Amino acid sequence: MNEKQYVIAMDQGTTSSRCILFDRRGAVRSVVQREFPQIYPQPGWVEHDPMDIWATQMGVTMEAMQKAGARAGDIAAIGITNQRETTLVWDAATGNPVCNAIVWQCRRTAERIERLRRDGLEETVRRKTGLIPDAYFSASKLEWILDNVPGARERAERGELRFGTVDSWLIWNLTGGRVHATDCTNASRTMLFDIHKLRWDPELLDYFRVPSSLLPRVLPSSSIFGETETFGGSIPIAAAAGDQQAALFGQCGFEPGDVKSTYGTGGFLLMNTGTEAVPSRRGLLTTIAASAGGETRYALEGSVFVAGAAIQWLRDELRLLDSAAQTEEVCRRLEDAGGVYVVPAFVGLGAPYWEPYARGTVVGLTRGVTRDHLIRAVTESLAYQTNDLLRAMKEESGLTLTSLKVDGGASANDFLMQFQADLSDLELQRPRCIETTALGAAYLAGLATGFWRDQEDIRGNWACERTFAPGISPGRRQSLLKGWDRAVRCAVAWARDED
Ligand code: ADP
Repeated sequence: MNEKQYVIAMDQGTTSSRCILFDRRGAVRSVVQREFPQIYPQPGWVEHDPMDIWATQMGVTMEAMQKAGARAGDIAAIGITNQRETTLVWDAATGNPVCNAIVWQCRRTAERIERLRRDGLEETVRRKTGLIPDAYFSASKLEWILDNVPGARERAERGELRFGTVDSWLIWNLTGGRVHATDCTNASRTMLFDIHKLRWDPELLDYFRVPSSLLPRVLPSSSIFGETETFGGSIPIAAAAGDQQAALFGQCGFEPGDVKSTYGTGGFLLMNTGTEAVPSRRGLLTTIAASAGGETRYALEGSVFVAGAAIQWLRDELRLLDSAAQTEEVCRRLEDAGGVYVVPAFVGLGAPYWEPYARGTVVGLTRGVTRDHLIRAVTESLAYQTNDLLRAMKEESGLTLTSLKVDGGASANDFLMQFQADLSDLELQRPRCIETTALGAAYLAGLATGFWRDQEDIRGNWACERTFAPGISPGRRQSLLKGWDRAVRCAVAWARDED
């Protein structure tokens, strides 16, 4: 009998589509990635061509299989992970999209969300969906399509159209239009899904005037969505999960109190809160976590709007650096940041402050401050912002942090990781495989098909590349954090004094 060797992870991101073949040990056996065009029709608007998403994802999958010398018969399952919230609508009969996908970053419905607040729905949305109303989420984007694409609402009411996030769009195409489904992690980012009752919410559907014939079936992240014949033989599609949830799973964040912190362009923290959906009063989101068991698991999520992007700013706008990696060597040359704090609130401050009009602030300048101090202060700001989210998560969940697993481009910076451990008084673990998002999708798919037996089987694959233990005195920690809190107050005061 032909022993299946690989699980395919399709990692459909905001700027590129990737495919990775993992083997039974969770090792990467081949990877292919392709960027696709970003479409900016107006300031603040962001779109993708749905056909670009599908074509690049298909292409990289075929190439990754070819690179590994794999045929359909060698593949145990496909797991999908994707950019979340991005909204697509297509024709059920032809599969043709009615317009471009509206990307999560697109702000075209920001005013619509203001109206939702005036309509007094903020609390309802928070309670049912775990989200703070925002244009990021799919609901207002879907409504926009129905209201603005000629004929879309009538066609939707006649049952001729289908809505989906990127996972649904891929599943639909992979199954030749036979399956219209999503998973509960993606559904939980639409702002139309009741995360407690696990169903599309009739009140929110009514409010956004969404006919229920548009909606995909919602399945657990680790389950058989269908079979695809696209790659020269039948392969089960056995998982779907939003990118951040997949990453938490890929980091083996299975237990309450497990946290993963991603240091990318932005930063994302997710904490597993087990079977309890913890409501947040400090601007964190409550969301469904990817899980492989029968029970629904929840997570608290917080994001840092500007993380690695602040390093890019040093490099590209201020031209203080040749490369992002150079920050490490610069930071090590110094004892400290010389009393300088940089709050990179370029687009406002997120949780736990929620001050959309705050702006980037530098405090503590003296005549002796050098380029290096500024670079160090910016690098440290990634850790301070992450620490703010960690503090909020600890307080709101009442859970003790059991681990902090890190990933993302800037997690390669040993100085930053050590500074984070010092600041948060936590041991950080950096895994050997930093492809945690794709790995999470592969694990979820492999568990649904018996490729891996259980979570313990997978845990055996998780290998730590390096740990970072806290190494500063409580007094020093307190004084650093006090300085940061003062700096944040300056950034907030700047916003509030404006009239
Ligand atoms: P994304 O997936 O969000 O595009 P990545 O996870 O690839 O991002 O991380 C890229 C970001 O990390 C960039 O913003 C870059 O400035 C930053 N970065 C990469 N390497 C380092 C490093 N060694 N030190 C600090 N920042 C880094």
